[in-house]
Amino acid sequence: MSRTKLIAGNWKLNPVDDKGALELLRQLRTRLAPFTKAGIAVMPPFTMLHLAVDILKDTRIAVGGQNLSGEESGAFTGEVSAPMLKSAGCEYVIIGHSERRQFFNETDQGVNRKIMAALKHALNPIVCVGETLEQREAGQEESVVREQVVQALSEIKTTEIHPVIIAYEPVWAIGTGRTASPTQAQAMHLFIRRSVEELYDAQIAQAMLILYGGSVKPDNARELLSQKDIDGALVGGACLKADSFAEIVAAGESIL
Ligand code: PEP
Repeated sequence: MSRTKLIAGNWKLNPVDDKGALELLRQLRTRLAPFTKAGIAVMPPFTMLHLAVDILKDTRIAVGGQNLSGEESGAFTGEVSAPMLKSAGCEYVIIGHSERRQFFNETDQGVNRKIMAALKHALNPIVCVGETLEQREAGQEESVVREQVVQALSEIKTTEIHPVIIAYEPVWAIGTGRTASPTQAQAMHLFIRRSVEELYDAQIAQAMLILYGGSVKPDNARELLSQKDIDGALVGGACLKADSFAEIVAAGESIL
């Protein structure tokens, strides 16, 4: 089965104003125009979503949120819900990023609720999993990631799972400049795919997009993206410059 490649850019808490966002979006519009095969998505902060959807309309670049509430509406100050993201024009949403787990106490149960909320409103959830350095050094990476996958997908039915994307993001590789080697990443991606197969079936596991994230840069993207079970990249730092993001998209396209 041949899967597409998806390159997604997580802007995190950047840039600090709409002026910076507008500049980056305009550059992305121009730089990414030649690409016709790989899926491309950007995830700006919530306040910049409308701007992104507007500037990127009529392009192949999709827009997503970086998080969402498990609640739909009501007295939940500061939250942003799935129907709000959908009506802003989002197609994707990142769920369970390690920074949310680390700094905002997100749990596997919360991640599961958020995935259900995203699916209910036809958003494609990009579900982040990954072990810490300590867990890898203790040889626990597979059990940690398996547990995150099992909990995240709990009670999500075979008929509902299709839009779910998993991003393997070893915590020790995020924003550190340290990347998992292509062999390490491929091994974990295969492990995740086999876990999905055990939970669902071979067809679902083969169709599922599993992205790699953790210091993906123009100079390591091609080798990572060439691995059999790596279906794309979730890019942090390198997505804030249109040129480097475009080079990573080009690396993805060169393999398709
Ligand atoms: C991320 O935030 O998902 C990420 C992978 O960041 P970076 O590329 O900067 O490591």
